[in-house]
Amino acid sequence: MKDKCNREIKHIRFSITSKCNYNCIYCDQEGFIPNTSELTVDEITKLCKILAEILNVTRIKLTGGEPLCREEIIQIIRNIANLHLYKDISLTTNGFQLYEKAEELFTAGLNRINVSLSSLKPEVYNKVYGSDSLDTVLKGLQKAKEVGFNPIKLNFVIMKGINDDELETMYEFCRKNGFILQLIELHEVSEAVGVNGDFYRTHYYDIKPIVEELESRAEKIIIRGSMQNRKVFVLPNSTIIETITPSHEFCMGCTKLRVGCDGNLFGCLYRSDLGRNIKEALRDHHSLSKYEQIVKQVVDSREPYYK
Ligand code: SAM
Repeated sequence: MKDKCNREIKHIRFSITSKCNYNCIYCDQEGFIPNTSELTVDEITKLCKILAEILNVTRIKLTGGEPLCREEIIQIIRNIANLHLYKDISLTTNGFQLYEKAEELFTAGLNRINVSLSSLKPEVYNKVYGSDSLDTVLKGLQKAKEVGFNPIKLNFVIMKGINDDELETMYEFCRKNGFILQLIELHEVSEAVGVNGDFYRTHYYDIKPIVEELESRAEKIIIRGSMQNRKVFVLPNSTIIETITPSHEFCMGCTKLRVGCDGNLFGCLYRSDLGRNIKEALRDHHSLSKYEQIVKQVVDSREPYYK
């Protein structure tokens, strides 16, 4: 299914809970919905099946809040895997519970993980995440590697005056461990969330010069056309760095449909207000064509946030 800008929906980003055990300094509160009830495990499974059937998508990313804070996370992954409709099931996590859960997650059918890691310095980590748990996360990453997750991507949000001196250290850490670095430009949080303008203005770091430098260093550059036109740089020592910059180009390459933990379907992190909630319809056992109408309405409402 394509939207009015001819962008086909190719994957689902599903927030399964708004609970989180961290208090990240930059948080865009993706998935945070006050005073709502979360979809049940059965509803999540049913919705994943419906979306795969209507949209022919084969890729899904579970997020939150913190998805590992959802008690039934293993069951959710097992159910999605057992649909045999998704070839790529991934999850983004702060990594705090990864050490204890990595093996079960992998066995349940999770294919890939992204782990938030914006510093390798304990004091900076603590400041960014409001949690004194860098070592716990590093242990979790090693465990995830041991159990077989591959690739493992690290989400590094670059912030002026906080962690902008750590890039080379991160490149080396990723090279040594075979991780892929996702270098993410800080974005302002949406008006719906309504916080953090000052933080953004003080710590926003324009990654253009870094991208130019990577262009000159890279052995190979790939553009992920169906993934917000992200650039992927392969350095001569095999380090892989992916850059993520919100922009018009980024929006034009966006092929995601988002699902909030309460069943709100929406097309853009910044425009959850354009969404439609599918929870009631899920409870009423409609035909696929009824669900298709709802999905189509949401897809039709998609428009690039950066014009
Ligand atoms: N708790 C999980 C985690 O830490 O990955 C999942 C949710 S978190 C909102 C997902 C990702 O959003 C984080 O890894 C971080 O990279 C990104 N993120 C959140 N707020 C951001 C902001 N203001 N600017 C850039 N990236 C942000």
